[in-house]
Amino acid sequence: MVKRQRTNYYPLIVTTLLASICVPSLSFLHPSSIWSFPPSKSISHESKIALASSTIEAPIRTPETPERVQEVRERFQSASLDAANAEGCASPDNENEWWRTPEDQIYREVNSEKPLRVIITGGGVAGLVTAAACHSKGMKVAIFEQASQYAPYGGPIQIQSNALRALERINKKVFEEIVKAGTITADRVSGLKIGYEKGVFLGLGQQYEKGDWLVKFDTLQPALDAGLSPTRVVDRPVIQQILLNHGIPEGTVRIKSRVKHYEELGDGKGLKITLTDGSIAYADVLVGADGIWSSVRRQLHGLGTNSDGFAASGAAGGALDEAEARRMAKESVLMADSASRRYSGFTCYAALTKHKASNIEEVSYQILLGKDKYFVSTDGGGERQQWFALIREPAGGVDPEPTSENPTPKLTRLLNEFNNIAPGDKNGDVWDGFAHELLKASPEESIKRRDLYDGAPLITKGWTNGQVAICGDAAHPMMPNLGQGGCQATEDGYRLAEELATVKHTKDIEGVLKTYYSKRIARTTLIQIMAQLGSDLLVDFDKMMTIPLVGPFFLFMTQASMPFILRFLYTPEF
Ligand SMILES: Cc1cc2nc3c(=O)[nH]c(=O)nc-3n(C[C@H](O)[C@H](O)[C@H](O)COP(=O)(O)OP(=O)(O)OC[C@H]3O[C@@H](n4cnc5c(N)ncnc54)[C@H](O)[C@@H]3O)c2cc1C
Repeated sequence: MVKRQRTNYYPLIVTTLLASICVPSLSFLHPSSIWSFPPSKSISHESKIALASSTIEAPIRTPETPERVQEVRERFQSASLDAANAEGCASPDNENEWWRTPEDQIYREVNSEKPLRVIITGGGVAGLVTAAACHSKGMKVAIFEQASQYAPYGGPIQIQSNALRALERINKKVFEEIVKAGTITADRVSGLKIGYEKGVFLGLGQQYEKGDWLVKFDTLQPALDAGLSPTRVVDRPVIQQILLNHGIPEGTVRIKSRVKHYEELGDGKGLKITLTDGSIAYADVLVGADGIWSSVRRQLHGLGTNSDGFAASGAAGGALDEAEARRMAKESVLMADSASRRYSGFTCYAALTKHKASNIEEVSYQILLGKDKYFVSTDGGGERQQWFALIREPAGGVDPEPTSENPTPKLTRLLNEFNNIAPGDKNGDVWDGFAHELLKASPEESIKRRDLYDGAPLITKGWTNGQVAICGDAAHPMMPNLGQGGCQATEDGYRLAEELATVKHTKDIEGVLKTYYSKRIARTTLIQIMAQLGSDLLVDFDKMMTIPLVGPFFLFMTQASMPFILRFLYTPEF
């Protein structure tokens, strides 16, 4: 078992010190100010906000009609079927693809007759968006995806306002389809709640009841201020289907195609790429969008041979069945060491459940905080709730096999971990009933488990070398707390294509890729750090809340920093 690496709290201490200097009064020490700060940023659900700087109007939540519920659910079914059948992907038997033969003049000028030839490793969010962005700029694109079908993990994801802007710039049709398919979450409350009764104020006694809001986020106003569309939640297979149908030409993705090795021919002369099935491909640019256990990164950074593999991290490539999930859990422990990735300390159970949540009209996203665990839930649209239960424990753990006494081991564990009836969980904590509401609506087979890994920002090693670059989770794996992993991958794809579109001669490629890296590294580094820190602080909230002054101060800092964090995330330029 891998020893869990603890977070470095240095950034928090620095932030805290800075805030202490900047905050002019100590009035925040009263809990009422926690609830009301900052007053101007509270979400108004009644009033329409039409900002002078923007033509985007604030959405007003109306309950989903039965037709909309059916539409969302049917769309998910059809997209999942397409994903399982690799609809829109190439047949591996076609022998006429452009990448099989090298360009006659590989060291050449780049123009509309001889556009850039781009090969992308991995057909997850990063790969598909990068392909769509490069295609929209007139480049030849092919994606090699190792999987034979997509196996989504954990249902829909938040496509936040920043990623929506990137998609809008890449391809209007893709943007419109995503907007149409998605369910707006920015029109209701999001935030952090106390999972169970806990917390003291100045050490004077019980202050916070289970289910109390600690922090509410307004994800709408920062988006509107920046002229961006409100965040939506969209099913992963639907995103894939839209990108396959509207973003790239049919047959761009070649499945069952695992990239093994690449060879740089040097000085703008291109690349020779070898797949595990023996196929050879030739390209001007290779983009590693192959996730946290990236093969391209392994070679780019000269990592050990067992640092890449099949274990999944994100949207695509999830375990197809329980046996595969168990194997992946063990493999990831070994890979993490050689790949210099970090076990986050959390295993994550997830499911998408067909259930109309009791708080659906008021709350779109909430986290119930507890000791060494937290329970995240999001409206998934179509009267479905997506939930994640993150529990702190060593990497590589697996659940017992079902038996006649316990046919639902995952569910049994989770119902105990988030027990809402006395005597509560193993710590004696009695949880808010919302976790149980969702768990009880989730069949055992719908619950997937995965250990969460992330990694340190690749500041010294970089994301590029010669005519090779990495993006998405391969470049900046992060904890899911900010819901930005896929969004940053989307921004990467946009930026990479923008830079590549300036190439006039193949000898320019190396410099242009360096520009891509330099324009992306600061932003993604900050977001990686915030996601990591956020995750570790969430689970340590319990300790914080029992320390006089520190608990309220921690809450204040979280509340006070959120508008700034969201403004940083929701920028129209990246
Ligand atoms: C619980 C959870 C919730 C999340 N919620 C959100 C959210 O709300 N919003 C958000 O934006 N993000 C979210 N994320 C993060 C997001 O899922 C990932 O950041 C995103 O999927 C990364 O995309 P990617 O394409 O870089 O990598 P991946 O999705 O991992 O795709 C990599 C692909 O490369 C393929 N591959 C790997 N190696 C090779 C090879 N050698 N040759 C060929 N193919 C290869 C894999 O099969 C896979 O299909 C969440 C993540 C988790 C775990």
